Amino acid sequence: MFPDQLKNKIEQKFPELFHAKPNIYAAPGRINIIGEHTDYNMGFVMPAAIDKYIVFAVQMNSANVHRFYSIDYNQYQEVQSLGKDQKLYFWAKYLMGVLAQFEKEQPLNTCFDVVFGGDIPLGAGLSSSAALESGMATAVNHLLGLNKEPLELVKLAQKAEHEYAGVMCGIMDQYASVFGKKNHVFKLDCRTNTHHYFPLELGDYELWLVNTKVKHSLASSEYNDRRAECERAVSYFQTHDSGIQSLSDVSLELINQHPQMPDAVSYKRSKFIVEELLRVDEASRVLDLGNLEELGKLLYQTHHGLQHEYEVSCQELDFLVDETRIMPQVLGARMMGGGFGGCTLNLVHKDFSGDFEKKLTTSYQNKFSIAPEFYLVQPEDGARLVS
Ligand code: ADP
Ligand code: MG
Repeated sequence: MFPDQLKNKIEQKFPELFHAKPNIYAAPGRINIIGEHTDYNMGFVMPAAIDKYIVFAVQMNSANVHRFYSIDYNQYQEVQSLGKDQKLYFWAKYLMGVLAQFEKEQPLNTCFDVVFGGDIPLGAGLSSSAALESGMATAVNHLLGLNKEPLELVKLAQKAEHEYAGVMCGIMDQYASVFGKKNHVFKLDCRTNTHHYFPLELGDYELWLVNTKVKHSLASSEYNDRRAECERAVSYFQTHDSGIQSLSDVSLELINQHPQMPDAVSYKRSKFIVEELLRVDEASRVLDLGNLEELGKLLYQTHHGLQHEYEVSCQELDFLVDETRIMPQVLGARMMGGGFGGCTLNLVHKDFSGDFEKKLTTSYQNKFSIAPEFYLVQPEDGARLVS
């Protein structure tokens, strides 16, 4: 659950600005246990929504203008039309992007007032942007009484990110923010957009995120480049088997038969994706068995692949992961999210969490002169009406 303080602040700000009573909605960020960059390759991922949220106060208005206020930036934005190419605060684009998707289907016939803020660290790989979109989509759907299926809201939120933020993200982030379930992770099939929940039982272990506090400017351009590289690899494999539609149709055997495929880069990228998909399968198997040691090993393997084959890591992430290798109380660690900064995900014994934080803070600070941040996270419910 989000802090009461956060909800109260937002709930109070709304009538100050708009002299009306809002509905309150909340949408969570997400983690991904394993299956990195596999969503847009039509493969499997294993995310969970987490106990970090964006909270929204929303109501329809008759002012003929959308009015948004960001608590965290202390910025106010009025929006007359939903055209893409306006000079606006960047955060406003996510809200507009969502409204624009609704409007594509039918005229909105109303404008919205929104006050929002949250405790999901921005740009840290926890998908604060997806929370922004899925929360707004949930609010609009509810206030207009549209009764759209959750999957429709997911797709609409994803489109908002593509068209208004320019990030060609897969479906995982918005899906997790909508479909999250308390105490559960889920295995999501990004080809069929279906999922299967299972309880996350970690016994004496906890999931800790460590925020590098860096986000290299490469992040979104490299992300789009990786998508293009994967598509190039698919085109190549299609010349061998016309049934192949994505890298999730390609076997490791086929890849190993084609080490020269069009170029060395496509080879490395495809190999990572196909191996990562095998690891997602293996992770669901070992989680069912409660074998956390094996899960931890898979996390390290994923990191290795992201570092050397998919090449989306950075020295800060590598450092934080490497530091845990000599800690027997840490079963596994990896970078999480798109890459080039953001957080590592760590499976840590609960008795060690204090030392974990102390040791990593000291060594990271010595090396990079940045104090990392630590978040203990738990699976939570997805986007919803709060009151
Ligand atoms: P991530 O989704 O990994 O957190 P992104 O770069 O995709 O990182 O999205 C971060 C952007 O989303 C911010 O720059 C901001 O525009 C918007 N955003 C997210 N959370 C908030 C918030 N609480 N208040 C205002 N804007 C936010
Ligand atoms: Mg994002």
